[in-house]
Parts: sequence; C-alpha cells; structure tokens
Amino acid sequence: MRIDVISIFADAVEAFSSVSLVGKARDGGVLDLRYHDPRDVTTDVHRTVDDAPFGGGAGMVLKPEPLFEIVEREQPPRPLIYMSPSGPPLTQAKATELASLPGFSLLCGRFEGVDERVRQHLVDEELSIGDYVLAGGEVAAAVVIEAVARLVPGVLGNNESVSDESFSSGLLEYPQYTRPATFREWTVPDVLRSGNHGLVERWRQAQSLHKTLVVRPDLIARRGGLTADEQALLAEFDLELPEADLGESSPGD
Ligand code: SAH
Repeated sequence: MRIDVISIFADAVEAFSSVSLVGKARDGGVLDLRYHDPRDVTTDVHRTVDDAPFGGGAGMVLKPEPLFEIVEREQPPRPLIYMSPSGPPLTQAKATELASLPGFSLLCGRFEGVDERVRQHLVDEELSIGDYVLAGGEVAAAVVIEAVARLVPGVLGNNESVSDESFSSGLLEYPQYTRPATFREWTVPDVLRSGNHGLVERWRQAQSLHKTLVVRPDLIARRGGLTADEQALLAEFDLELPEADLGESSPGD
C-alpha cells in the first residue's frame, strides 16, 4: 500500500511513522510512505506557501498554487484526502475502506487552512479526526496512517485481533485480562478461566453490549437498539441496563 503525505511539516508525520507498527510495516515493504513539501515548488526566496485571507480576519491561508503544483508534478495516488475539521469523521468503516485501496494521499493544512479552490478543485474528499481543531493536519494524517496500516494484511500478527475489537461490530470491545489471575485483591472473572468457550463467547458479547450501552448509547441506537436475544444475554450475566436505552427493538415488551 502506498500513502503519500503533502505537508510543510512532513517531519512531524515521519517522526511518528518511523517507529512501532507503522515503522515495521514500512521496513517489511508492506507500506510505502512518501512525502511532498509544497515549499519545494515555490519560486520566491522566502518559499512562501501562505497569504492573508481576502476579506480580512486573523491568520494566514495556504495558497493554491504550491498545492496544485506539487500535486500535479508528483501525481500522488488518489483519492487525495484533505485533513480537515469540517470533513466527515474518520470511522473504523472508513479506515477499512482505505485499507482496501492500493494507495491514497493525505493533504495536511496549516494556519487557517487551505484556499477554498484547493478544497473544491484539487482534493477528492475531506476527513476529520474529531470535533476539535488542531494547529495542522500532520497529527490527523498520522492518525489515519496508523488506523489504516494496522488493517493492511500482514501488518498485525493476528487478523482476528482486528475483527474482534472496538467498532468492528458496531460495539465497543469487551474487557481483556492477562496473568496474574489475582492482582492485589482484584481477580479475573471466573468465566474467563472456566475453559467453557461458549460461555466465554457469550460473556464477552454481553460485556460489549453493556459497555456500549453505558458509554456510547449512540452506537446502540445506530444499530437499531437491542434485539430480544441481546436483552436475554444481558440478563444472563445480571448486567443492569441503563433505563432509557432499551428502546427501539423491544416493542410490546
Ligand atoms: N480554520 C479552520 C481550521 C484550521 S486548523 C476551520 O475552522 O475549519 C489547521 C489545519 O489543521 C487544517 O487545515 C487541517 O488540515 C488540520 N486540522 C485541524 N483540525 C483537524 C481535525 N479535527 N481533523 C483533521 N484535520 C484537522
């Protein structure tokens, strides 16, 4: 998979992407990460990439020429995605979709962002990493790279660990424990040491449901509430339900 990053602070992305899982994926040849600096195509002595906004106001805006030029010259793989707080949010589903592509590119803004013509005529789409404003797109690009890279076959040791975890099923992941079975006075749930795989599976599913109901009821609502089976599963493990959230799929109960 090839990912190109267009940024005036590529070092920030590289510092992060040269270590750990992403670094290993690159060393192993699974991931081909390339950087393009819009300053490289400027022609003035100051290598200017920004200018004041038309209409006034605070801050600077990234000029269109260097961005169009670097993209037209380097032809980074499409889709070209502009990291932006006003894009649709990055989700696990979006990461999975990107992981299935042969490549894509990430454009990092800075200052007040990019000239609107970049948004309208150069990039293919936008992506936000959350409802807050960063100083630049580099951290956001690193987030996308890591979320996507770990889904590319051959990057994580064990593909099952991807399919089981938070969001893959629309639910948050169940709690995980490792040795020792008793740490201080806190003991691992008996179920997990019962050797009964069916029971373990049901317990995990119930824990996932319960955790999601408590922490992210919006995710439960999005999948249409709880089915009768899921309610029975929660009851089997005595997991209390936050009252308001039982909703949609239990009419006539
Ligand atoms: N004035 C802009 C914010 C600019 S922040 C606005 O109000 O929308 C500067 C740059 O940081 C942006 O161009 C974008 O590339 C990046 N950025 C900031 N917040 C982000 C977020 N939540 N997700 C992705 N990129 C973000």
